[in-house]
Amino acid sequence: MKQIQFEYTDDAALRQELNRIDKWKINHRVSAMLFHVFADNLEADKIRHVCSLIEFALPEAYYVGCTTSGNVMDGRLNKAHITITCTIFDDPDSKVEVVQMPLTEQTEPLILGNIDKLLSERPWVKAIEMLVTIRGLSMTDFCGDLSKIKEDIKLFGGGAFSDNINEVASFVYSSGSDCSDHAVVFTLMGGENLSVYSEWVTGWRPLGRKLKITKADHALLQELDHKPAFDIYYKYLNIANDDDFFKHTLEFPFMYKHNGIDILRAPTACTPDGSLVMTADIEEGVETYMAYGDPWTILQQVNETGLRLAEFEPQSIFLYSCAARRAFWGDEGSNRETSPFQDIAPTSGFYTSGEFMRTGSMLNQHNVTLLVTAMREGPVTGNMHNFRIKDHSLDGQASLVNRLANFVHAATEELESTIAMLELSSITDGLTKLYNRSEIQHRITAANTKYSESPDKVPAPSLIMLDIDDFKKVNDTYGHHEGDVVIRKIADIMREECAKTADDISIGRWGGEEFMILIPSEDKETVNKLAENLRAAFKSENFEVSGNHTISVGVTTALAGEHVDAFCMRVDSALYEAKGAGKDCVVIK
Ligand code: GH3
Ligand code: MG
Ligand code: MG
Repeated sequence: MKQIQFEYTDDAALRQELNRIDKWKINHRVSAMLFHVFADNLEADKIRHVCSLIEFALPEAYYVGCTTSGNVMDGRLNKAHITITCTIFDDPDSKVEVVQMPLTEQTEPLILGNIDKLLSERPWVKAIEMLVTIRGLSMTDFCGDLSKIKEDIKLFGGGAFSDNINEVASFVYSSGSDCSDHAVVFTLMGGENLSVYSEWVTGWRPLGRKLKITKADHALLQELDHKPAFDIYYKYLNIANDDDFFKHTLEFPFMYKHNGIDILRAPTACTPDGSLVMTADIEEGVETYMAYGDPWTILQQVNETGLRLAEFEPQSIFLYSCAARRAFWGDEGSNRETSPFQDIAPTSGFYTSGEFMRTGSMLNQHNVTLLVTAMREGPVTGNMHNFRIKDHSLDGQASLVNRLANFVHAATEELESTIAMLELSSITDGLTKLYNRSEIQHRITAANTKYSESPDKVPAPSLIMLDIDDFKKVNDTYGHHEGDVVIRKIADIMREECAKTADDISIGRWGGEEFMILIPSEDKETVNKLAENLRAAFKSENFEVSGNHTISVGVTTALAGEHVDAFCMRVDSALYEAKGAGKDCVVIK
């Protein structure tokens, strides 16, 4: 595989380059030829013209391309408005094909069927690059649908953009199809000896405490922890909702787990009510962190990625990097994280409006991310590159920002785990580790309310109340310590028997040696059997010091519309009746 890159300056120079490639073909094997044409502005006529020159000079070659927020050539941001990458596949078995499909809200549902049909007729496909016009469209269904194609096919690519970040329009184009502002170009690649490897680099790391996304609608992040999402930026980072909002928040996107991997989402604007307009859909109900990026931390991660990439021994590398990264680094600075890849293999690509990569079977849309796709024909030789970023900032110690952010994150994690422990101990009984009285009472009330609100949908909850018989004697005869041993044992038996019955049963210590079990089930057989099993299991327990003991048990099920006090009193009186009936028995009311 060979990658040739050049700028478009004028027609004569382009013709000369194409001519050189044509001549090169005479002495070399070429199985397929693929041009990437990247344009950093929206001059459709110019793009069409360049594509037609390629088509004319090399009619057997494919071309694909898109408008961008910056073109990468030889690993660096290139200021020519149009850059061209020619990838030559030279393995006899390698194949390439290009398909462009319209992409709108209406046509999106058809894409999966179309691509499935293509793939069933082309079993050789190993990898698909996608160039997409995403601006203004939700990509959630698109990604979900494409996740369903054959699992071993690699998917990667980027969203078209333009030099103006606030411009919504963008184009993709390809052999046989015109420039379109609503389309996706799929480049199908495959063949026995073609290998494709993708990785993504963010370099951004989580910072501070967990935040819950309590309200969101597609790409609009409305509330975090029930407060306007913008408050977080203002409170913790002192970022105001002004013209510089986008610039200032770039360093602090949100990070959250999606399909098992860390995804970044950055806000592009803030509405007057404090909602954040994000770069892509973000899910309600998930937990997120604010993340931070600083050059040292990012370059560390680029270096790690480079090491793995070098082992793959790529012959060509494609970068799909978020436009936000270019804004973050600045034009010259952005080369610091892209140019190292050029030391491994010829590297080209573009700055995107979103990056796509399949991890496992799931296709994910990333943001603020640098996606690296490497390709090779043939086996690895084992002559591994000794890759290392040549960036003097990595020679010294970790950056101060990195250390401080580490400090904040570690301290916050400590606090969070202390709070979690305190929360648990505030609802737990010390001796038995069951729920304490107030927690079990709270749960019974909640279950009763839920049932009385929708008795048709929710099963009536049931209660089992039990009390150890003649327990005073245990204390009086064998001492308080033995009493505690017996209490802990009945707790263990309850845990065991309840776990055998269902996994949503709550057990609480009601007082002294009296316990309450809440079962979200009205199935009499289940509940009564559990009560009977508890009685029998405890009775058969032979305590080393104090011998055998028994319990009395009351059982009842909630009635529609009754007050929780009536529900509890009924189970209490069932237990009272069991005591009156001579103890060691179950009374159901
Ligand atoms: P009954 O069969 O009618 O239930 O008789 P009982 O002797 O069990 O009577 P009661 O339920 O009134 O006795 C409860 C006793 O449990 C009184 C109290 O000293 C004892 N107790 C309460 N909490 C604890 C505890 O945490 N540890 C120990 N060892 N004893 C406790
Ligand atoms: Mg008792
Ligand atoms: Mg008692």
